[in-house]
Amino acid sequence: MSRFNSLLKGKCPKCETGQIFSSSGNILKLKGPVMNDNCPHCDYKFEREPGYFYGAMFMSYGITMAEAIAAYVAIVVLNLDLSVDAIMGIITAVMLIFLFPNFKYSRILWIYSFTKKDEVEPADKIERLKI
Ligand SMILES: [Zn+2]
Repeated sequence: MSRFNSLLKGKCPKCETGQIFSSSGNILKLKGPVMNDNCPHCDYKFEREPGYFYGAMFMSYGITMAEAIAAYVAIVVLNLDLSVDAIMGIITAVMLIFLFPNFKYSRILWIYSFTKKDEVEPADKIERLKI
């Protein structure tokens, strides 16, 4: 499986087998996505340090803005004669619909940005040096 496919499926960046999220959440039930602390397959810890996912907020902001701009461009291209309030309502609806996927993929992108598949953990390096 290619790394991009693993990213889209939310697989662990290290083993590309275990899932990062145990639940995708359901916006109708107001239940957010649930993230595993460690990979269920290789035990890779996803949150590398306290506050690790702070940067994922900026990923989420970028994704959300891209969706909002895409929604606006779609309204303009379709030549819909809407009021400013209606356009803002549609853009807000698009943002709310993609709220949980944005949360999930911003964290997945953040994890993939800093993890290589063949990365060896410092603890593993020390273990290998002892042998
Ligand atoms: Zn894994």
